[in-house]
Amino acid sequence: MRKTLLSFLVASLLLAACQSSAPAQDGKKTIVVTYSILGAVVEELVGERVNVIVPMPDGQDPHEWEPSARDIETLTKADLIVQNGLGLEGGMEKALGQARDAGVPFFTASDHISVRHVGEGEGIPTGDADQTEGAEDPHLWTDPLSMASIAAALAEQIKTNLGIDVSDRAQDLQSRLESLNTEIANSVNALPAENRKLVTGHESMGYFAQRYGFELIGAIIPGVSTQSEVSASELSALKTLIAENQVRAIFIELGAPQAVTEAIGQETGIKVVELTTHNLPADGSYFTFMRNLAGVIVDGLR
Ligand SMILES: [Zn+2]
Repeated sequence: MRKTLLSFLVASLLLAACQSSAPAQDGKKTIVVTYSILGAVVEELVGERVNVIVPMPDGQDPHEWEPSARDIETLTKADLIVQNGLGLEGGMEKALGQARDAGVPFFTASDHISVRHVGEGEGIPTGDADQTEGAEDPHLWTDPLSMASIAAALAEQIKTNLGIDVSDRAQDLQSRLESLNTEIANSVNALPAENRKLVTGHESMGYFAQRYGFELIGAIIPGVSTQSEVSASELSALKTLIAENQVRAIFIELGAPQAVTEAIGQETGIKVVELTTHNLPADGSYFTFMRNLAGVIVDGLR
């Protein structure tokens, strides 16, 4: 108890020190983005014209990550907050509410795309709220054309909220995202239709699947969040689906239980391939992220 109080006091002092020593650095406006992949796209959009801060360290799970007192301070001082929406930022909800109460304007990416809903017979029906047919899927970043729509809408809002014109950069970014989409569609064409079947850590590849003609067979954690539980009966149902569909690989990702996945791979005799779905590659580029994502899937299912 005493230690907690002391840590709190130290943290408060540090926070106070940081605040006084760091006044609006270069006079630029600041956009705070809730997770790294969306943050990378926002950086491509604004370039040097606006500061972009992503409080969540890359490699953390955006479904679970909770901000510190200092991160909450960063959020409430932002000129604009860019969030995903559709429940992705589960652990940040309270902090985002505080920023909203403080009058910070919000941009919600999922308001500007065609939201995907969990389809009939997709994955493993569990009665779990976030896996129920019709539930909204937050993983919009796996579709470059959704990101293009988001960039266009965000450019408008940056003009409104910050008085900064990034329309030239928005046009350039949109055309690069469209080229990326064509490039991925071409590389996926190397796969026969019957190989385009996905089993992933959780139900994270829906937008990618929809865009490039893949079927979602199931997930180790049956839900659109990593927070759902796994039961023995669901895992046995998944094994049956893998065998029936002659699935060629299981893609394991952030937040999935490694041991369970390896066991399923051994029991079904198919390979387990690591897939990065929720964090950026070393160069911090969304374009590299998507090329890696598509490349690992095409190689894994060939
Ligand atoms: Zn996810």
